[in-house]
Amino acid sequence: MPPLSIRKIIHIDMDAFFASVEQRDNPAYQGKPIAVGGSSHRGVVAAASYEARVFGVRSAMPSVKAARLCPHLIFVKSRFDAYRTVSQQIREIFFQYTDLVEPLSLDEAYLDVTENKKGLKSAIRVAQLIKAQILEETQLTASAGVSYNKFLAKIASDYDKPNGLKVILPQEAVAFLETLPIEKFHGIGRVTAQKMHTLQITTGRDLKKRALPELVRYFGKTGRHYYQIVRGEDYREVKPHRIRKSVGIETTFFRDITDPEALLEELEALSVSLEERVRRNQARGRTITLKIKFTDFQVITRSYTAPRLLTTSADWYPLAIRLLNDSEISQRAVRLLGLSLSSLITQSSNQLYFDFFLD
Ligand SMILES: [Mg+2]
Repeated sequence: MPPLSIRKIIHIDMDAFFASVEQRDNPAYQGKPIAVGGSSHRGVVAAASYEARVFGVRSAMPSVKAARLCPHLIFVKSRFDAYRTVSQQIREIFFQYTDLVEPLSLDEAYLDVTENKKGLKSAIRVAQLIKAQILEETQLTASAGVSYNKFLAKIASDYDKPNGLKVILPQEAVAFLETLPIEKFHGIGRVTAQKMHTLQITTGRDLKKRALPELVRYFGKTGRHYYQIVRGEDYREVKPHRIRKSVGIETTFFRDITDPEALLEELEALSVSLEERVRRNQARGRTITLKIKFTDFQVITRSYTAPRLLTTSADWYPLAIRLLNDSEISQRAVRLLGLSLSSLITQSSNQLYFDFFLD
């Protein structure tokens, strides 16, 4: 196991994100209790402003209940384009400091700033600069948690909201976690917290008294996780999302192919295989690329970008035939054919949307 104190992790979380964007863009909402999403008689609240939270309004709450708790609550229609724009702005700020950025949703990310592009030793200083830059560029506030692992950084960012900056130093972590109510532990949900309460576990201190086998007996494999986090141990790395640029497939032939009809057959088989792969990756794209390798190992590629999204082999097979015909391979022997789809639009942006609502 690596030493605990070697990483410098920041968790950044925008404050009441959707609601704050709406209040920023519409002066009539400023200082008022607003709920984004839903209406007074249907749907759920996606985000509530701090003024609404005073009344007990929370995200994921049925709107009817929210309206009952706060009769003068203003329901505002969500504008995802606006939220995505801000999301992009804050990510660009993060990347000015480090490439180790792991977004959790539109408005939240882990950053590993142990080595950072500004050469700053202090992660606290980095967090201050990022917060200031976010405010300057978006007129919105973020809360930051700074610590030596993801678990603690995440708890820290939530500790001081809104506009918070909470630091948990290695030598403070264990004592901090001892006094923390069990439901404040990230990863311990409502149901687990209730179960812990019935076991007389209400704080980190209570949890730490329990032996590992006992926790495993009560909570299965997660018991080990609880055993570790209450000791401030979390070895998960910050994993930057690698955005997939293309989905492709290729085959090398047993025997080199010169017969044009045999090539077409292979191309059709490739088209079908690509469709399966595209579906598995929940990808859609606009550019189809054909790759041809000849017996002499020369490789050529030909691409076509369609004006609309290509999703099935019926969309790209005719295009692939055209690319093959245009490549003027004449009588040359072909060793390998490849087909790939790029200029992708993946499902992940929708995924982030749903993750946010489930939060
Ligand atoms: Mg947030």
